[in-house]
Amino acid sequence: MSNPVLTAVAWPYANGPRHIGHVSGFGVPSDVFSRYMRMAGHKVLMVSGTDEHGTPIQVQADKENATPQQTVDKYSRQIGGDLQGLGLSYDLFTRTTTGNHYKVVQDLFKALWRNGYVIPKTQLGAISPSTGRTLPDRYIEGTCPICGYESARGDQCDNCGNQLDPADLKNPRSKINGETPEFVETEHLFLDLPSFAGSLGTYLQSRQDWRPNVLKFSQNLLGDLKPRAITRDLDWGVPIPLDGWSDRPMKRFYVWFDAVIGYLSASVEWARRTGDDDAWQEFWTNPDAQGYYFMGKDNIVFHSLIWPSLLLGQNGAGDKGGEPGSFGTLNLPTEVVSSEFLKMSGAKFSTSRGTVIYVHDFLREFGPDSLRYFISVAGPETQDVDFTWEEFVRRTNFELANEWGNLVNRSISMAHKNVGAIPNPTALTDDDETLKALSRGAFTVVGDHLRSSRFKQAASEAMRVVSAANKYISDQEPWKRKDDVARRDTILHTALQVVQDANTLLTPFLPHASQKIHEALGGTGVWAAQPEQRDVEDLDVPGQINPILTGDYAGEQATWSSTPIEVGRPLDKPSPLFTKLDPKLGETGPEWAPVVS
Ligand SMILES: [Zn+2]
Repeated sequence: MSNPVLTAVAWPYANGPRHIGHVSGFGVPSDVFSRYMRMAGHKVLMVSGTDEHGTPIQVQADKENATPQQTVDKYSRQIGGDLQGLGLSYDLFTRTTTGNHYKVVQDLFKALWRNGYVIPKTQLGAISPSTGRTLPDRYIEGTCPICGYESARGDQCDNCGNQLDPADLKNPRSKINGETPEFVETEHLFLDLPSFAGSLGTYLQSRQDWRPNVLKFSQNLLGDLKPRAITRDLDWGVPIPLDGWSDRPMKRFYVWFDAVIGYLSASVEWARRTGDDDAWQEFWTNPDAQGYYFMGKDNIVFHSLIWPSLLLGQNGAGDKGGEPGSFGTLNLPTEVVSSEFLKMSGAKFSTSRGTVIYVHDFLREFGPDSLRYFISVAGPETQDVDFTWEEFVRRTNFELANEWGNLVNRSISMAHKNVGAIPNPTALTDDDETLKALSRGAFTVVGDHLRSSRFKQAASEAMRVVSAANKYISDQEPWKRKDDVARRDTILHTALQVVQDANTLLTPFLPHASQKIHEALGGTGVWAAQPEQRDVEDLDVPGQINPILTGDYAGEQATWSSTPIEVGRPLDKPSPLFTKLDPKLGETGPEWAPVVS
């Protein structure tokens, strides 16, 4: 049996709907990967959920005249609906406001505390002089003390990527009202990151197969690790399970700390919902299991340094040693797969500037597979990429409709018209053998790329089979073989076999279309399974309803191999797979979309 695979997908923040930049970073790549791994015979656990604590949620709730809980209830459902619409095959997509999550966060914290990796410290905290309230880091803006960037956030500089302390910013100011914050002394708990420098260094040294930018970035930060606050003065978050802290309403875990533990808590919840409370261990404490983490590049540090530190601390395996906590010895990430940014006109998508394309608008107009394909083949895999409608229309029309849709349509149409079923082949020529060898061989090539998260190359190699098959049909001209039915049927059989193979190769990218093609080839049952959104009761808080995504992927028929098509299986007249888009759309985009200059 192959290694179990944990696919840990970054948690979208529940303060509004998500845009196509978000899903190009964490969403589509993680699903293409998971679908491939399942097809290749791995047991996969794909988990995530909405990240629902922290000040930005409170700010959004104030804007909507709602409680934070009402706000996250609304956006968790919306975001889950969008991800379901995209066909992201989560085993569990949950949220951070579950009773289970609170307990897992607190249990993991207790192990860190017992092992001495958490230190209390009094620090300067910012307050707003006009209201007296805590002013959170990301609402403070100023000049980065490291690179001089003038719009650095209090917690992080978006220009140089360094973690910051707001007290270090030059010319600090409140993003809410522009006033200069006051810094007062307040007690907080800190993760003692310097006490992981040695163990983290050893770990990173063993990760030579990571994307070079991720590894280099992480190793560069090793020399400069500082204790990092894991608590905030805030009343919206997970309470701190320590005497003297648990009963203070304004002391909560910092949102990053609870959110990153979500990978573990979601796995535990998934296990509890399957009825086997220990089922998560196969993916976390089994030394043969592998864990792949998917995110945008602004999140690398949390996954390559901070989350491994929390795991090492829980395991009692940081530089201070210790004992494993209640979860046993947990696996560190096998790989941190980070995408760059999808942008518009050279800038990041921005809700406030109105330069944003929401997932639900996109899905309503174009459906899921054309976006999945675009992100896979032209997305920000290794560098920032500008989204343009021109490129989207070109990829959809020329690659999906003209190349792939046309191959499927004409092969099945000709077989339907001439034979009414999958034709019987006779002696194969060299041309037939060459094409079939190409499509069989693509399983190894495309599979190797997918296993290594090289989605662009994987999609291109799969499309090479499609182009070769189109050329084969044009060269062989089966429509001219009326006098040699045996040869005609052999050509059509060969073409249909390659359609079957290419459909399998493209299933991770185009799961919705692949189901239709499976049926057009006379297949029945589920080829590629889709997630569903369900309302379930919280496992620990009676009466709380959580919208989750889950699915039954074990029953799907798609496997990563060339499966022979069945001669004589009846074929109907196929309906077109991909609608060609009006080329004018490439100039301006749809009416609802922001103008790209
Ligand atoms: Zn900077």
